[in-house]
Amino acid sequence: ANSIEIGLLSGIFSLVNLSQIFWSKIISSEAQKILQKHAERHGVEFILNAKSVSFLGSGDFEGIKINEKEVKAPILAVGIGLESESVVLNGAGIEVRKGVVCDKFLQTSQPDIFAAGDCAEFEDVVLEKHMRYGNWTNAIMQGKTAALNMLGEKQEFRILSSYSTSLFGKDIVFIGDVERASADVVEQKVLDAENSVEIFKRDGRAVGAVIIGDTAKRTEITNKIKNREDF
Ligand SMILES: Cc1cc2nc3c(=O)[nH]c(=O)nc-3n(C[C@H](O)[C@H](O)[C@H](O)COP(=O)(O)OP(=O)(O)OC[C@H]3O[C@@H](n4cnc5c(N)ncnc54)[C@H](O)[C@@H]3O)c2cc1C
Repeated sequence: ANSIEIGLLSGIFSLVNLSQIFWSKIISSEAQKILQKHAERHGVEFILNAKSVSFLGSGDFEGIKINEKEVKAPILAVGIGLESESVVLNGAGIEVRKGVVCDKFLQTSQPDIFAAGDCAEFEDVVLEKHMRYGNWTNAIMQGKTAALNMLGEKQEFRILSSYSTSLFGKDIVFIGDVERASADVVEQKVLDAENSVEIFKRDGRAVGAVIIGDTAKRTEITNKIKNREDF
């Protein structure tokens, strides 16, 4: 295993064979540090680059041993990421890449078959790229568009996806395409001990942003990305 996250109810967060914490494929190491320090202030201990993990308890689960450290806990949570299960589509003549490929109307490569939500790798007309999102708003809005198009309408799916969450009260917002590897450049617009704003640019335009901490500029940033304005 090279990317397993382990959380214990006792407040230990451990990463097996990994030296970076949350969202290392998205945010900078400086922004990760803001989140790590914030979580540490709330009692979370991080064990990075853990080399060995074993269970404690001969019958019932009692905790785990990370490297040489024994941690008693009633619950263990393991983060393994997400993987698509598309075997059900085998032989159906539907193109599948990371997700079910569909056009801006959410129609798949087969007429009359549509995809929506986490499974859809759709033609995003705002970002001009095939995208796949995993959040409730996207799933709900795509479900509506796909349903209308199944009924014969021809409605483009045109929404700049965003997702927000919070870590011990610290707001974190992801807007648009925040895949670091596919950005030409990621500009750090704000960086202090508590806040960070990173703008992802591709082909000369902003396509995504991650805001940590003060989210007052969320709407302004969203509109700038939608309207292809400069930052
Ligand atoms: C732990 C966790 C926390 C999350 N937290 C948030 C959050 O805070 N905010 C947010 O916006 N999003 C969150 N998400 C993401 C969000 O849950 C998904 O983006 C959303 O549920 C996607 O909806 P969907 O309808 O596309 O897929 P799903 O909700 O996954 O629905 C797919 C359905 O299809 C069924 N299914 C699968 N295969 C078959 C088959 N062969 N035959 C019949 N049925 C089948 C499944 O059982 C499931 O019911 C979270 C996800 C997880 C896992």
